[in-house]
Amino acid sequence: MCGIVGYIGPRNCVPILLEGLRRLEYRGYDSAGIALVMNGKFSIHKKAGKVADLVSLLNAGNSELNAQLGIGHTRWATHGEPNDTNAHPHWDAKKEIAIIHNGIIENYLAIKTKLLREGHTFESSTDTEVLAHLIGVMFERTNDLCSAVRMALSEVEGTYGLVVLSTRDSGKIVVARRGSPLIIGVGEGENFVASDASAIVEYTRQVVYLEDGEVAELTTQGFQTMTIDDVKIDKVVEEITLELSQIERGGYDHFMMKEINEQPETIRDAMRGRLLLDEGDVKLGGLTDVMERLLKAKRIILNGCGTSWHAALVGEYMLEQIAKIPTEVEYASEFRYRNPIIGEDDVLFSISQSGETADTLAAMREAKKKGATVLGIVNVVGSTIARESDGGVYVHAGPEIGVASTKSFTSQLTVLALITLMLARAKGMSREDGKVLAKELASLPDKVAHILKQTETIQALANEFKDVRNFLYLGRGANFPVALEGALKLKEISYIHAEGYPAAEMKHGPIALIDENMPVVFIVPRDGIYDKVISNIHEVRARRGRIIAVANEDDREIEEMAEFVIPVPRTYGFFGPIINVIPLQLLSYYMAIARETDVDQPRNLAKSVTVE
Ligand code: GLU
Repeated sequence: MCGIVGYIGPRNCVPILLEGLRRLEYRGYDSAGIALVMNGKFSIHKKAGKVADLVSLLNAGNSELNAQLGIGHTRWATHGEPNDTNAHPHWDAKKEIAIIHNGIIENYLAIKTKLLREGHTFESSTDTEVLAHLIGVMFERTNDLCSAVRMALSEVEGTYGLVVLSTRDSGKIVVARRGSPLIIGVGEGENFVASDASAIVEYTRQVVYLEDGEVAELTTQGFQTMTIDDVKIDKVVEEITLELSQIERGGYDHFMMKEINEQPETIRDAMRGRLLLDEGDVKLGGLTDVMERLLKAKRIILNGCGTSWHAALVGEYMLEQIAKIPTEVEYASEFRYRNPIIGEDDVLFSISQSGETADTLAAMREAKKKGATVLGIVNVVGSTIARESDGGVYVHAGPEIGVASTKSFTSQLTVLALITLMLARAKGMSREDGKVLAKELASLPDKVAHILKQTETIQALANEFKDVRNFLYLGRGANFPVALEGALKLKEISYIHAEGYPAAEMKHGPIALIDENMPVVFIVPRDGIYDKVISNIHEVRARRGRIIAVANEDDREIEEMAEFVIPVPRTYGFFGPIINVIPLQLLSYYMAIARETDVDQPRNLAKSVTVE
């Protein structure tokens, strides 16, 4: 959450900051702002709303902005509403320091109270402004920006990705990290800082990942890293492989639609070089070193938040039913605070698109502390979960910019299926049985492509239902999490209230909602529990609910019962979610279009949730 970009070097940084903010906007879009150092003075511009609103503000100004040192921020508000005043950057009492911040200063109130007593006044309601004032106080004492930042941070509880500038010590940028990602982009005679590589990949591929508790001072000539207690640290410069085309819309109206359509390719990429068709087996390099511990594990725990938690729920079905390993799923946010009973016999998989999700990361650290083997299933290469885990599997879905997750979900499911097949084979599944599953997995990208070619029914559905206020999604078995995911997608981008339930649970409450205005989406493939779901469909029909069925293409029976049928190809039951979720992603997309909402940047949300 929140986008950060900073520059020090010979170029005019204004276009670099604004383009960087545009690329980072998916991380937060409540407001945007920049601070420039021009002729030894600050030029600060900030505006509630999108980066485009900030750009309009700048265009409306008369002065030519040209600075070689500057920082920019897109906010996802935690403390104080999203208005111009609360927008970052914030400055200290003397207006000599400007800061941008991602995260939450948990003890800001105590610090603020103390500063108020000392005569400080505050313009905004943010925790960030309090930190700016505290750094200002320390700066008075030390006259050195980096020391001032370190001294202030030693009094701070909470999380931060922090970038600080001063007009009084103006040849540098000071940055610090605890809990929120920051990378330094290393250039020649210039340096960058950003919350993710998309903001700076145009200028450099050489990056340094800051770890929690680290502070860095950037100048035009280089950078110095140290701990908060001023112990010098040597960092490794790494090369990133991100391509610019991966973070652009490429002809689509929205990133979400681009990402939905990428799925045949991203699912294939998740399996590439890993699925061994002839052997009916799977090879996952990132798990080789922990294979013994995985096979000995008494229990696997899958942790995640939001869509990743839904992927975990499907993973539980796969791991228990196919690999026969006891598996539990838990929200990372609950797991981390309930003192879970977990130890050396347990393996925990942390599932996170960004690899930075605050709760998932904290849950992983908790499990590691208690002796469990911790593994990651993440998308962003080099992210914190990837770096801190004992091993893991990248999903290789490529950058996901649309805030509502789509391709990451199907790639997470694909990776969970690969892990399951690998463990099942290692635990005795025959080669022949393995080959059947491997072949089925390999066929999924074409099946997904086939669904993506037939979107007319779904568009018609969206127009039919665009004005309803509620939706119900029902499924059983591995398709129950698909129901949850379908409902979540609809809520996220069309703002229609939607609930997902196991189909059989309907009669324990939600059935009270059903009348002739209630659309109910059933995920009803021809599997072992088909007849049970059909009974649930009858129950809804009897109460005049409107049935939309995601069903197999060759299912003629369903046509009699459903008002709308969205046909999907058949596949092996536990892999079904990878296919069945596609029409639900499309449905939410077209509903959002019909309702004219902001598909890629839905209200109140942001990508990469780095606050708890
Ligand atoms: N807590 C800060 C605020 O509300 C930072 C939020 C962010 O990460 O964008 O302004």
